[in-house]
Amino acid sequence: MNVTEIFETMEYGPAPEAAAPGLAWIQEHSPFSLFINNQWVEPASGQYIDSINPATGKPLAKVAAATNADVDTAVAAARAAFETWGKTPGHVRARYMYAIARHVQKHSRLLAVLESLDNGKPIRETRDIDIPLVARHFYYHAGWAQLMESELPAYEPVGVVGQIIPWNFPLLMLAWKIAPALAMGNTVVLKPARYTSLTALKFAEIVQEIGLPPGVVNILTGEASQVGEALVRHPGINKIAFTGSTDVGRSIRRATAGSGKKLSLELGGKSPFIVFDDADLDSVVEGVVDAIWFNQGQVCCAGSRLLVQENIADRLIEKLRVRMEHLRIGDPLDKAVDIGAIVSPGQLKQIQELVNQGVEEGAVMWQPSWACPTEGYFFPPTLFTDVSPATTIAQVEIFGPVLVSMTFRTPAEAVELANNTRYGLAASVWSENINLALDVAPRLKAGTVWINCTNLFDASSGFGGYRESGFGREGGKEGLYEYVRPKWETIGPTDGHAKAEAELIAPGNVSNGSDGDVEAAQDGNRFIMTEEEDNEDGRDKSGPYVALPSIDRTPKMFIAGKQVRPDGGYSRDVYDPQGRLIGQVGEGNRKDIRNAVEAAHAASGWAFGTTHNRAQILYYIAENLSVREDEFTRRVVQQTGRSYADAAAEVQVAISRLFSYAAWADKYEGVVHRPPLRGAVLAMPEAIGVIGIACPDEYPLLGFISLVAPAIAMGDTVVVIPSQQSPLCATDCYQVLETSDLPGGVVNIVTGDRDALSQVLADHDDVEAMWYFGQAEGGKRVELASAGNMKRTWVNYGHPRNWMDKVQGEGDEFLREATQVKNIWIPYGE
Ligand code: NAD
Ligand code: MN
Repeated sequence: MNVTEIFETMEYGPAPEAAAPGLAWIQEHSPFSLFINNQWVEPASGQYIDSINPATGKPLAKVAAATNADVDTAVAAARAAFETWGKTPGHVRARYMYAIARHVQKHSRLLAVLESLDNGKPIRETRDIDIPLVARHFYYHAGWAQLMESELPAYEPVGVVGQIIPWNFPLLMLAWKIAPALAMGNTVVLKPARYTSLTALKFAEIVQEIGLPPGVVNILTGEASQVGEALVRHPGINKIAFTGSTDVGRSIRRATAGSGKKLSLELGGKSPFIVFDDADLDSVVEGVVDAIWFNQGQVCCAGSRLLVQENIADRLIEKLRVRMEHLRIGDPLDKAVDIGAIVSPGQLKQIQELVNQGVEEGAVMWQPSWACPTEGYFFPPTLFTDVSPATTIAQVEIFGPVLVSMTFRTPAEAVELANNTRYGLAASVWSENINLALDVAPRLKAGTVWINCTNLFDASSGFGGYRESGFGREGGKEGLYEYVRPKWETIGPTDGHAKAEAELIAPGNVSNGSDGDVEAAQDGNRFIMTEEEDNEDGRDKSGPYVALPSIDRTPKMFIAGKQVRPDGGYSRDVYDPQGRLIGQVGEGNRKDIRNAVEAAHAASGWAFGTTHNRAQILYYIAENLSVREDEFTRRVVQQTGRSYADAAAEVQVAISRLFSYAAWADKYEGVVHRPPLRGAVLAMPEAIGVIGIACPDEYPLLGFISLVAPAIAMGDTVVVIPSQQSPLCATDCYQVLETSDLPGGVVNIVTGDRDALSQVLADHDDVEAMWYFGQAEGGKRVELASAGNMKRTWVNYGHPRNWMDKVQGEGDEFLREATQVKNIWIPYGE
């Protein structure tokens, strides 16, 4: 045998990692209790469940099955701990978190072994990816604890957070949840997944070891139906952070609707892996291995749909098959194994069923010639070709080592195919042409885009979904906002800032204002406004001037840049505070909303125009509003009965606010993250899409402008329901919008019943977000309905805010709600 022959035939010998230290640790602790207040507490039920080793199918340990009573105890502990921890200085929290990071490193090998034993993932991955990233997450967030007071001065912790995580990255998901929560001063009750609790319990030991104050971290193992649901419904919890399947995410959205609990959801995916014909195919092959065979394909952002440019498809598929033939499956503790075991028999069965379905649907299945181990739960790497985009395997998340491939011809077709999914978690783009890659990246509906790389994660860079992959980000500065709320919310809307802005910009300059006007405006039935009432301005009344009744005005709705009558043909009366009729607006219905949503979609090019252009148009709207300052002031007076000066201040703040968002349009920039990698991650705030907006009744003009301006500044298009009680300022606005070069369809205004119309918007699958400012009950209905397509919601739970105040009425809270962050990873170097 010569050297070449030896090289080619050489088999891997076994390279096992010792299981003994992990097994000894388990032996010492099993059966495991619950971790509450830094103590091991037996479950109230006295029940325990088995945790199995998926590589053997045999039980590894017994862990406590928590129930309602334990959830109550743990939440009470977290509540009590929050009293202190929430006020603990950032530097002190940073020291604890630093200690956690250190201890994760000190126990890294034990953690890696436990993770492989309990989950079935290869030791190479737990040792080199999961556990180092866990440590990194605590280091990185120790830094944010240190900086919170200076970098997020207007924010405070949310309180007690309930955290629910899946089994695919047990300790890493724990870190993604606990690190930002503690950094921002919250306390937590965390539930690991039923199959993979062991590393969380080892983590609990670390918490004890470093002397974290009792109650800050509590860990409850057990069944979803017991612990998970009880956490979600518990009134003592201020926020739920969930990672798991879209179905469960949807049920949590419904269960928490209207409760005021903050919510972040990291859900499923069916992420595209797009290969253009100029890509480096050898790198692509290794990329695919990482995309879909990493962690047995049990990765939420797995590149499970391979989209290949047609002219290179055969070549790539051939190369892939050769590579698959060389993948090694087997004992997760073997350091030379690429693919370990599937987490549970149930998961294995589900993968098999979906694969069978793919075959039945006519796709061509290919698997390597070698066989899987027969003991334990293994599934071979699988490749489907001839897949048509509408079939089950092309649409449903398989959550296993199964890749489906399809072809495209042009970049536009690639984008269309990539976005042909309900999900939007991640995407990966392969091309040596950076122009092409960076042109495609913003068009992909996904929270993370990897260019010439895949499945890269880092604490510095936010991760999270678009569409039915959920909302909220984990990691990066963008992720911190999931664990804080504006300070003013606790104090309530009537704090000292009120009117500050109005006073600042308008001292003594309430234009055209005179007492006469106020009286005139408040006087009598204003439906027909006669010139007599309206001529306090010293015009010369001699000559041919005759006082005439004013011409009747019919405020219409505004859809696709056109004034339209309501589809139903009904009008609704508008009254002033004394109950006098002051006008009529169209009674919008379902059809009007649908038309408006369609128009808003058709205007989606707005997001791809330049930010400079959007800024200019917002300035122009402000300019045109200021031309009509007096008219709008009178409208406010007429609808609210407030004094002229007060109304004039509202109009002026509205104009100033338009300036603010014109200013922000080209300055809300995102950041460049610095993960430990040769390359950069661009965290770009992007438009969400079509946003439905239900305006508050207070401040009929300012409420409308304060919500519409940030949305359109960020490139969203909107369907707005003006104040139900005082809609006339908004309907007057269409004349301002029409004269300001705003493209048709960017702002659509449908008047009518706030709650009925909001319901239609919240139910609509082509609306990507819904903002609702009205009654608590209406907000709850919006949150409930939003679960349909997992649209993002922003509701006020019936609490008013002071729209005149700069802190409550404008700024980064609004800009954040109007955007979602896409993280684009760009490694460099040849
Ligand atoms: P799952 O939704 O079944 O379970 C996730 C967690 O929720 C578990 O701890 C489970 O016990 C708990 N749970 C289940 N039902 C519940 C309920 N009604 N109320 C409260 N809690 C409940 O998901 P899974 O099978 O563990 O994980 C796989 C899914 O997770 C996949 O869809 C995957 O895409 C997704 N995932 C997403 C991300 C992400 O960051 N987006 C990361 C990992 C996994
Ligand atoms: Mn297990």
